[in-house]
Amino acid sequence: MNDNQEILVPAQQGRAVAVARGATIRIVDVAGQQVADTWAFMQDDPGEWLSTGHTLTITDRLFPEIGSRFFTNVSRPILTLTGDTSPGPHDMLYPPCDAEMYALGGATDHPNCRDNFRSAMRAVGLDPAYVPNPVNLFQNSLPRADGTIEVETSLSNAGNHVELRAEADLYLVVTACSVDGHPTNGFDCTEIRIEISSPGPPAGA
Ligand SMILES: [Zn+2]
Repeated sequence: MNDNQEILVPAQQGRAVAVARGATIRIVDVAGQQVADTWAFMQDDPGEWLSTGHTLTITDRLFPEIGSRFFTNVSRPILTLTGDTSPGPHDMLYPPCDAEMYALGGATDHPNCRDNFRSAMRAVGLDPAYVPNPVNLFQNSLPRADGTIEVETSLSNAGNHVELRAEADLYLVVTACSVDGHPTNGFDCTEIRIEISSPGPPAGA
């Protein structure tokens, strides 16, 4: 193991980081019940990103499990879920929360995952015109048998994490979801930690 990196995503904020192909990414729910909106973009073409829609189509699953791969908008693998100490689920249906959503509930200038995503991307020199839907790690919003959906309190416990393998050189973006007036994050927005272990030299090298 070498060149390990830790990035703290404070409550109601976002961070972006470049990740090399083969690296292991851990996304840790530090205090529990905290949703982590997660995006990935190809470094060599930020017009290619992790597409939850293409991932559903290719994997025939609404929610990822260990071993599931995530695919881009041109159907190439970008991440693999290699570990998960949380009870799940991890949502792939919802868009990030945004200022207009909070305004509908009467809150103006509320921190939100879409703006936090954009700020984080600008910090690494990118300004994508389009904000894809994220993978909402630790988000508890399983659909019901009658087709309705609702976001309930995250089942994730303090210290639970998911582990992902980077299948390409990519930018990873994580926002610690800002929802504080709904059960989503247990009515208490907290931080998320990103841990990156760079790929070591090949065995025997
Ligand atoms: Zn959010």
